[in-house]
Amino acid sequence: MKKDLKLSGIPVVSGWGTGKAYFVGRVVPHTSTVSIARQDLGSEIMRFNEIRERAKEEYRQHLNGMDKSAQFDVSILNIYEHILDDPAFIGQVVETISTKLYDVETAIRLVSNDFIKRFDAAGTSYFRERASDIVEICERLISYLYAGDGRTTKFMEPVVLIVSRTFTPSDILTYEKSKVQAVVTTSGGKTSHAAILARSYNIPVVSGISHLTENISPGDTVLVDANHGLVYVRPSAAIITRYRNMATDENALEELRKKWQRPVYTRDGVKIEILANISLPDDVDMANEYGADGIGLVRTEYLLSNRKEMPPVDVQVEYYDAIFKKLNKKHCVVRLMDIGGDKVPQFFDMPPEFNPFMGWRAIRIFLERREYFEAQVEAIMRAGQSYSYSIMIPMVTTLQEWIDAKSVIAGVASRLGMEMPKCGVLFEVPLAILGMPMFIKEIDFASIGTNDLIQYLSAADRNNAKVNYLYNPVEPVFLRIIRDAIKTANDSGMPLSICGEMAGNPAHTVLLVGLGLRRFSVIPRNISLIKEIVSHISYMEAAESISHIDAIDSTDDMSRWLKSLNKRLLGDALPKLPLGVEV
Ligand code: PEP
Ligand code: MG
Repeated sequence: MKKDLKLSGIPVVSGWGTGKAYFVGRVVPHTSTVSIARQDLGSEIMRFNEIRERAKEEYRQHLNGMDKSAQFDVSILNIYEHILDDPAFIGQVVETISTKLYDVETAIRLVSNDFIKRFDAAGTSYFRERASDIVEICERLISYLYAGDGRTTKFMEPVVLIVSRTFTPSDILTYEKSKVQAVVTTSGGKTSHAAILARSYNIPVVSGISHLTENISPGDTVLVDANHGLVYVRPSAAIITRYRNMATDENALEELRKKWQRPVYTRDGVKIEILANISLPDDVDMANEYGADGIGLVRTEYLLSNRKEMPPVDVQVEYYDAIFKKLNKKHCVVRLMDIGGDKVPQFFDMPPEFNPFMGWRAIRIFLERREYFEAQVEAIMRAGQSYSYSIMIPMVTTLQEWIDAKSVIAGVASRLGMEMPKCGVLFEVPLAILGMPMFIKEIDFASIGTNDLIQYLSAADRNNAKVNYLYNPVEPVFLRIIRDAIKTANDSGMPLSICGEMAGNPAHTVLLVGLGLRRFSVIPRNISLIKEIVSHISYMEAAESISHIDAIDSTDDMSRWLKSLNKRLLGDALPKLPLGVEV
């Protein structure tokens, strides 16, 4: 097979790792059926009940053994227990055994395939996730029917797990996590249960890679760069060395982490705030460690991950309280739940949509389902009484939507007898950002969500590797739109940040400072690095250089020009930075 093959997919959990390819899981196939004699029917059903009990016991043990600090909502394991006790699931397996006289394995496979077909036909990401839960359960049950079925739990050497079917939490839970260096999968979005679990154990994941079995053989060396969604199969020694050298960047990063527990100013004295993007209360610890000046984005929808019901207000209050408390008085921007698109909570009765990212999402849901909206706002306000916080609303398209949303917040404030909090818009829909001047007098602050904004401006799905070439933050027209928005905000004195991934990419720091951005919100790990870069920039010099972007028409030319800009403005500092990406 070809040496040094490079595959590209979707970065799901960032980081990089290398190890020997290990293929996990099996698709539940349409195998030939195995019949049983009528007198064996009772013992076959007993076998089914025994393995169900065994699976429940194992999930319970996983639950008890979980590191309490792991940032994983353990309720997924409760969901598995629930499926194992679900009368619809049990009834169908037992009926298949008793009416068709199939053995337990055949019955489980048929029932599983039937569930999967039904869920797939429903088409939404929610139902696809449920299908993967069923696969998970069925694979586990079937594995008990065989002694030594090839499932390994311990490894002699570091491995990269290759998952050529639906990625499930067992793929992480079953194996020795310290040896799992990365995961490559065909499916599984950023918010799949398995991705949430992998993230909590700091295991990089790249998904969306097809033809895995054609390109990778068991035991091949694989290097996964999940920061860029790349998978190197049988990489050359030079590539491995390049990544290993990056690993030595860890020490330099640690030095920067210690250095930047303070605010940063450009060389000519302009203060630039570097805030953190977080999802879970434990993320605040990392944000603090890396010197965050505050939190610029809490993705609160993770509060709902893997829950069977909307958490009651009191539980929500605890979640916000845990975040605010850890921040030691630093400001926190809480984004209302961005549900819809690829983030549909299990309890939410989302109708099937042809185009979920363009569909019923975030504020569009809230304005119709006010009970969710009001409960969340109440929880934030109750938790935030003695803290510095503000509320940000995602996916705002029109001014009228915003005015309606604000009046709901005002209603909650007056019901609670509390002051109206500061409220801002996440500009991520083209119509809204192009209309920013209209919004200015109605909002207290704003942030630009470049992740969605780029996908909507370029009509290129941010999760689809095939159209990735169109999804580019240095596209000249996009940069001009960002520049105009920053100017509109600065001219009117309205605080503005960028909280999309673009802001956390060190290759873009000089560019964004040059465009006039004074507030970045980025993944915690990159905070001290971005501060270090800022400290080498002259705000004036960057602003003067940036006027060039009007003369550049292609993305390639823009990339080339940006590289030369970074070299020129960062000078001798550039080669010493632990960048991890090409700048
Ligand atoms: C964005 O769209 O840029 C953003 C910050 O929100 P999310 O990535 O959660 O959609
Ligand atoms: Mg968004």
